[in-house]
Amino acid sequence: MQIKLTFLGAAQNVTGSRYLVETKKARFLVDCGLYQERELKQRNWEPFSFPPEALDALLLTHAHLDHCGLLPKLIKSGFQGKIHCTAATAEITQIVLLDSAHIQEEDAEFKRRRHKREGRKGPHPEIPLYTTADARSSLSLLSPLKYEEPLQIGEGVEATFYDAGHILGSSMIKVRVRENGEERSILFSGDIGRWDKPILRDPTLFDEADYILVESTYGDRLHQDQGNIDEMLSEVINSTEKAGGNIVIPSFAIERSQEILYHLNNLLMENRIPHLMVFMDSPMAIGVSEVFEHYPELFDQEMMELIRRRESPFDLPGLKTTRTAEESKAINHIKGTVIIIAGSGMCTGGRVKHHLVKEIHRAESTILFVGYQASGTLGRQIVEGAKEVRILGQPYPVRAKVAQIHGFSAHADRDELFRWTSSLKKPPKQVFVTHGESHAAHHFANFLQEKKGWKVSVPSYRDEAVLD
Ligand SMILES: [Zn+2]
Repeated sequence: MQIKLTFLGAAQNVTGSRYLVETKKARFLVDCGLYQERELKQRNWEPFSFPPEALDALLLTHAHLDHCGLLPKLIKSGFQGKIHCTAATAEITQIVLLDSAHIQEEDAEFKRRRHKREGRKGPHPEIPLYTTADARSSLSLLSPLKYEEPLQIGEGVEATFYDAGHILGSSMIKVRVRENGEERSILFSGDIGRWDKPILRDPTLFDEADYILVESTYGDRLHQDQGNIDEMLSEVINSTEKAGGNIVIPSFAIERSQEILYHLNNLLMENRIPHLMVFMDSPMAIGVSEVFEHYPELFDQEMMELIRRRESPFDLPGLKTTRTAEESKAINHIKGTVIIIAGSGMCTGGRVKHHLVKEIHRAESTILFVGYQASGTLGRQIVEGAKEVRILGQPYPVRAKVAQIHGFSAHADRDELFRWTSSLKKPPKQVFVTHGESHAAHHFANFLQEKKGWKVSVPSYRDEAVLD
């Protein structure tokens, strides 16, 4: 038995997920994500280290950009196989890739103009990494499958997808390889969700696997108690309404925006917040919400119950969706308190910037953060208490209240990662800890090794492992 595994991304960093698996009979990739860390972005431009046309298939765990965002480049470079994923992942991936291509095109154009103005050349060509046309041609290769239905990739090579509970349609993938009467299994964790969260089901647990790749985004941290999301949310809304301001929630389009609607709906039904207009000002979030409506069978018991009781879990009374820029601007003319949910989640782009321009200097308004704010982003500056920030090239004083709710994370923390990994009934031959910054990955690897005595390693970029 000889299986070669090459780590081409999410190895001591959190983005650019990409693993190459080569057996005697099949060669395939698990994920093909975009690098998003500023210092690693140049890897998006490197030619692939393998011939894309020689791949038999691609297995996609879920629709986040750091897992699917390099697909159009792979197809442009000659990949002709199928992209296997769940139907929900296929639908959300369409939205994500078209949006990403649009951003790539805009960025290239913006850089081209700036460099021309400054009379210099940047480190990368001023062309998009891929275009909308490239993204469209990759969509035709998406091949939806169902959870827990084995898929044949090559002779003796089979992959099965399981619910990861991370975002809608997200998967863990177990690959079985049979050669000369022997069998080995490799379990790819994808991104691991959380237990007892609203909307989605809990992550799948496994009894056995020979090799495991486990993510470690929060491998060195424990999430704080999240039982009080509703309490914090109602406090922010009620106090801002009393003060006569607006509530701006910078939010990620996938999952987070829908989760907020879910909580607002609960609070409203329990009469804990007043009836306010709520604007979902993000075409991408609106698109993703529609995908949610197509897959009620993927929800957890509680959510199914809610759906049985009313028509749509995201159809909040007072909810307005704004697709066009004109509709978005019209929000500013409304008198009285409104709640505005807009992207991007870290305020690095999108419509939220325009709302911040209008609200951030108003002491009666609140900016409410519901997601991780990476260093170097406008969101991070605001949560860290900057007195003045630059938005769209202009300085603005920060007078609005700044609030943050941490309980929304879609990633398992250290104990939850351990809960997932240690569900195995017998020790795996080896565990590879991936998808975490170096500190988080090593912390979790040591923790797991100490607790279980298993063979655990933290691979680096381009490392190869031979699984026997
Ligand atoms: Zn993810």
